[in-house]
Amino acid sequence: AKELGRNTFCFHSAALTSRVNDHLQLEMRLHRALERGELLLHYQPLVGLEPGQPIRAEALLRWQPPDEAMVPPARFIPLAEETGLIVPIGDWVLRAACRQAKAWLDAGLHFGGVSVNLSVRQFRQKDIVDEVADVLAATGLPARYLELEITESALMEGVERAVATLDALRRLGVSLAIDDFGTGYSSLAYLKRLPLDKLKIDQSFVRGLPDDGNDHAIVTATIAMARSLGFSTVAEGVETEAQLEVLRKLGCSAYQGYLFSPPLAPDAFARHALLLVAG
Ligand code: C2E
Ligand code: CA
Ligand code: CA
Ligand code: CA
Repeated sequence: AKELGRNTFCFHSAALTSRVNDHLQLEMRLHRALERGELLLHYQPLVGLEPGQPIRAEALLRWQPPDEAMVPPARFIPLAEETGLIVPIGDWVLRAACRQAKAWLDAGLHFGGVSVNLSVRQFRQKDIVDEVADVLAATGLPARYLELEITESALMEGVERAVATLDALRRLGVSLAIDDFGTGYSSLAYLKRLPLDKLKIDQSFVRGLPDDGNDHAIVTATIAMARSLGFSTVAEGVETEAQLEVLRKLGCSAYQGYLFSPPLAPDAFARHALLLVAG
């Protein structure tokens, strides 16, 4: 039994060591990726259904190592978050997205603005408000064209401070969205105190529409609540006409998903936006 115990320990230890190594390796590669310009942004349209409404874009981070497959954000953002690397990466994302948005506006694109994901760590940086102000000043993007998406969980830990940060961001003139709504145990008592403009309904609830009764109930209640709190709503992960139909009936304000478009490289996004205006 003793032998077995030791072997078990060795086994665990080896597995742990290799996991730690994988982790370190990925961290090093990610660090280099930032320095070498291997990070890029794709843009997914957010579509409203009112005629003539300009199209908005959510900036989504991509990592393209040379001669290798693209690494999806789900594989490296959690690690970047853990190690703190998300702060310089997020900073890069914010700058790159604002620079792109300004270029599109300057080019005369019928464009409603860009949404940027802020990680928990970034949102909690003491100087986040100055950072956003700096980026707007440096890129020349008018603040109303920038929206920041913050996850529910980031907002619910330390609500007092979150409210103060959101207020300060709002004073800059940027708009604020709560991301992945429904996945983070929001307290409704807190929700009404948060100065937000928009609520994004997580795709896990949209997926079950129109047939799943629970998802239908959740989405119905969420949209009704958002409206009564004065937030507009975006449904994420809209893939079918049937889902769109239900969401429209419930009074959702805008949609994002493969039914309209996947995330696109900047040129493709601009072409897409032009086509929508022409059509
Ligand atoms: P998210 O913010 O909820 O972004 C939406 C995700 O849903 C994107 O995945 C998008 O490609 C995907 N999506 C869009 N439409 C559909 C659809 O119709 N069906 C399905 N199944 N999926 C759809 P992506 O690009 O892989 O990003 C995953 C997550 O990584 C994001 O989720 C966000 O949490 C994080 N992320 C991406 N870029 C950044 C960034 O710049 N900063 C931070 N902090 N997080 C980011
Ligand atoms: Ca988002
Ligand atoms: Ca989301
Ligand atoms: Ca999500």
